[in-house]
Amino acid sequence: AKAAGTGCWRMFSAEMSEQAMSRLRTEARLRAAELRGEFELFYQPKMDPRSLLLRGAEALLRWKTDEGYVAPGDFIPVAEETGLIGPIGDWVLGEACRQAAAWRRQHGDLPVAINVSPRQLADADFPNRVRVALAKSGLPAHLLTLEITETVAMTAATGDFAMLRVLRDIGVGMAIDDFGTGYSSLSHLRRIPLTVLKIDRGFMQTVPHDVAIPATILELGQRLGLEIVAEGVETEPQRDWLCDMGCQTIQGFLISRPLPAAEFEDRFLVERAR
Ligand code: C2E
Ligand code: CA
Ligand code: CA
Ligand code: CA
Repeated sequence: AKAAGTGCWRMFSAEMSEQAMSRLRTEARLRAAELRGEFELFYQPKMDPRSLLLRGAEALLRWKTDEGYVAPGDFIPVAEETGLIGPIGDWVLGEACRQAAAWRRQHGDLPVAINVSPRQLADADFPNRVRVALAKSGLPAHLLTLEITETVAMTAATGDFAMLRVLRDIGVGMAIDDFGTGYSSLSHLRRIPLTVLKIDRGFMQTVPHDVAIPATILELGQRLGLEIVAEGVETEPQRDWLCDMGCQTIQGFLISRPLPAAEFEDRFLVERAR
């Protein structure tokens, strides 16, 4: 039993150090990634489910390495823990504003949303970074929306939502991402300066067979006067149901996967101008 115990410990230990090594490798490569120009933003369209007119885009971060694209789920947690999300998030903010401003000059207004991590919101200087990115690019504030997760929005309650208010006062839009998956108190929902509620794609998967939860979220958002964005829309029956429910905006593979900027422009902006 003793031998087996030791063996177990050894295996466990080897596994841990393998994991730790892999994280260190990821961290080291992440540190160099920005300088090497390995980050890229993909854009996924958001559309009116009835008219299929473009309503905006969500910028989604991609890390292009020699071995191909690394999914955000595989490096954002490391970036969060190491604090690298600070500089990476700044890059995302600056790049999204630059791109949205360039598209605006060529094709007209296009609201763009970016994802903001809890670490970024913990930085008291974040609102200034947003101001600087807007000023540098010339993008009007109302064309930028910040997507924050429900849990982060609720955690911000410790600061009495002060930072979210400052950001909202700058004029940027504020979206709660993955709504319904975190813990939230409905009384807080009233106090956060929100403009958009995004229904998590987990709730779309049961539509139209079981609509109890998404229907309730939609109604709640509508009563609060928020724009509702349904995420992860993959089928026509889901789109039909969302039309019937009066949902203003849908996003998902039914319309398009996230695309490289040039491809997004060709497919959704150049076409729009014609
Ligand atoms: P999210 O903000 O909830 O983004 C939506 C995710 O769902 C994206 O995954 C998108 O590609 C995927 N998706 C969109 N439509 C569909 C659909 O119809 N079906 C399915 N199955 N999936 C769909 P992605 O790009 O891998 O991003 C994953 C997460 O990584 C994001 O979730 C977001 O939390 C985070 N993320 C992405 N970019 C950034 C960033 O620039 N900064 C930060 N802090 N987080 C980011
Ligand atoms: Ca998002
Ligand atoms: Ca989401
Ligand atoms: Ca998500």
